[in-house]
Amino acid sequence: MLLLIKNADIYAPEPGGQCDLLIGGGVILGMEPNIRVPRKYCEVIDARNLKALPGFIDGHVHIMGGGGEGGFATRTPDLPLTDAIKGGVTTVVGCLGTDGQTRSMAGLLAKAKGLEEEGISTFVYSGSYGLPLRTLMPSLEEDLLFIDKVIGAGEVALSDHRSSQPTFEAFAQVVAMARRGGLLSGKAGIVNVHLGDGPRGLEFLRCILTETELSAAQMLPTHINRNPGLFEEGIAYAKAGGFVDFTTSTLPAYLEDGEIPCAEALRRMLEAGVDPGQITFTSDGQGSLPDWDRNGRLRGISVGRVTSLFPAVRQAVLEEGIPLQTALRVITQNPARILKLRRKGCLAPGMDADIVLVDPHDFEIRTVIAKGCLLMKAGRMQTKGMFE
Ligand code: ZN
Repeated sequence: MLLLIKNADIYAPEPGGQCDLLIGGGVILGMEPNIRVPRKYCEVIDARNLKALPGFIDGHVHIMGGGGEGGFATRTPDLPLTDAIKGGVTTVVGCLGTDGQTRSMAGLLAKAKGLEEEGISTFVYSGSYGLPLRTLMPSLEEDLLFIDKVIGAGEVALSDHRSSQPTFEAFAQVVAMARRGGLLSGKAGIVNVHLGDGPRGLEFLRCILTETELSAAQMLPTHINRNPGLFEEGIAYAKAGGFVDFTTSTLPAYLEDGEIPCAEALRRMLEAGVDPGQITFTSDGQGSLPDWDRNGRLRGISVGRVTSLFPAVRQAVLEEGIPLQTALRVITQNPARILKLRRKGCLAPGMDADIVLVDPHDFEIRTVIAKGCLLMKAGRMQTKGMFE
């Protein structure tokens, strides 16, 4: 059965005017005005007065849960499919974080395959916070070569009390392995780098550019909006050609402590002259959000949500005055290009049919289509995870 979306206001993410979208076999077959198909061959969705956006890409999600850093009881739960659907997230990149011991690459890959069976597209990073990397195959290069879903390494922690305190050489070797594995497999071979609040900040990443033959294209540092100092470093790093990723899941206490809201961070980067193509947003979904008091005691703990991703873009448009086509890029076209997800991130014939229809006034998500299947239709869930 074909799916025909009629009269949508296209943001591909570039504005494309009013068009119909014909979908079949999981891909966009046509995108032009007045597509005609006999009714008996297709389901028609009237999208007049709705905007059609590419399905959102969330490039940093703890899909199998993470270590809560407050004991076993704080281990966070895995990603429910319905959270992804509610958030318009049709592609996720799963990763392990602090806990690379009770969570494993095998489990991460199994969860990614499960979500793929349930309807969304998934990829994973190999490894976790610590170095040396614990990969599934004997090396990162082999993970990239022989496991389709592996697109790089991460999240490798730097400048953080929870990192493995790797030497610069150990970090550079991981970036080099990612480079080689990426070249051989035709994948991004990128290292997703967790930055903590430590004073070394982006030092190792800058050293990669000055001390080695490796390029900034091999690294995607995340949590760049976590404090004002790191953010300022991030501006300089992005202007020198580096990618920067901001985290949308947050707590009021983090913002009080100096974290910069993603929408504001995007505006300030653009005002500073950073190329909008260098910036991505990710949710850090299912990661733990511990709330420590001044004495280091855990006051409470909550869990990051993939549903925080699009509201940050909406806020950038509605409150920071950033054009929709620019703000949208940070969760569509940019991650697709940076992570080399070739059939993702924009609306065009031949691309995967990952589409989100939103209300033009309040930007509420109305309909979600992933790989050509309706997961949410006019605000109503069409499917759910196996055990939801
Ligand atoms: Zn992290």
